[in-house]
Amino acid sequence: MPLNPKRTVAELKELRSLTSDENGAQRVAFTPTWAKARKWVREKVEKIAGVEIHNDTAGNLWATLTGESDKALLIGGHIDSVPNGGWLDGCLNTLAGVEILRRMSDQHRGKPPVTVRLVDWCDEEGARFGKSLFGSSACSGKIDMDETRGLKDKDGIRLVDVAKDHGIDFEKVKDSGKELKDAAAYIELHIEQGSVLLDLDLPLGTVLGTLGVERHAITFRGQAAHSGSTPMNRRHDAFLAAAKMASEIYEIAKRSGQGVCTIGSCTTKPGIVTSVVEECRIALDQRHLDAKALQQMLADAKSGSEKFAKEGNVNVSWERIWSIEPILFNNELIQMADGAIVESDAKPHRMPSGPLHDAAEVTRAGVPTVMMFVQSLHGISHNKIEDTKEEHLELAVFAFDKLADKAMQWIA
Ligand SMILES: [Zn+2]
Repeated sequence: MPLNPKRTVAELKELRSLTSDENGAQRVAFTPTWAKARKWVREKVEKIAGVEIHNDTAGNLWATLTGESDKALLIGGHIDSVPNGGWLDGCLNTLAGVEILRRMSDQHRGKPPVTVRLVDWCDEEGARFGKSLFGSSACSGKIDMDETRGLKDKDGIRLVDVAKDHGIDFEKVKDSGKELKDAAAYIELHIEQGSVLLDLDLPLGTVLGTLGVERHAITFRGQAAHSGSTPMNRRHDAFLAAAKMASEIYEIAKRSGQGVCTIGSCTTKPGIVTSVVEECRIALDQRHLDAKALQQMLADAKSGSEKFAKEGNVNVSWERIWSIEPILFNNELIQMADGAIVESDAKPHRMPSGPLHDAAEVTRAGVPTVMMFVQSLHGISHNKIEDTKEEHLELAVFAFDKLADKAMQWIA
């Protein structure tokens, strides 16, 4: 039974008809539809000779094909989706992994040279409780237990209670880390969710890592004063200083090479047209794959804000909202992914990932990791219009299988 990428496309459609409605995919983690999708995957995997299946303490589903060596190649994905999601995000990875398990079980008569494990991560999207990468961050040990313990959905239902209904004792989720004991490499296929490959007219890309993020609130403070009676030269206008940041961040991003900066919100006080703005708060999001470049972007934004504050006779203060360091994938696996793409008659292209993925958590746990991206039509995901050409899906499964073989040889 050779690899059959067409079967993966057929199974993606089968899953879509089972778990979507007219608004898109509805496989939100910890819902009955998600459980149904999980059961469906399990039934597929149960038919593969030599595969053992279990859920770990964090609700991650593991399918293990034990090999000659305990050292394991991990293939990851997530069957959960956002509400009204696309038909490929996450489940393409899982179902490509199922197809590779089938091929390996058959080719090696149930015993490949190294152990091969498919993991379907629990609640990658964090759609219901607002915190993504639940299962993989529990497995990596990086999960914030106190924060997660307090998470509630919009109806006030606690994550810990919902998880319990799905057989998960929240206090034991970190025990899932023992699943990584023999992990020697982790690979994940994903749709790009952006438009880089589309614009380059390339089907596949090798992912270098996930961007580091610095997210800050910047507050400028001036003085409220009557809009009619205050001469322009006597104003302490907090909005003027903040507004200068809007064009400054484009210069900062340009200087950084590959970085991106966004001012995503702006609030003013008193917020009436008859007063000069006393206080203006903006939120700035900066991302870069290079840690030093990211810190330079942050330093540039700080000095810019101080300059504009001084020019406008206002004060400025900074407050960190959230940050994460860039997470870099393994160089040797990156080369193997390039090689697998070339052997599939496609042109390799290296790129960072803007969104975080489970692969980032596995990297943080110290397992050599790489991801492969396949082109997204429209450059859109988390939307029912999310799509990829079927020929590209088939090519992706084909190339990803080659990567799996290269990684297996590397481990062996
Ligand atoms: Zn995803």
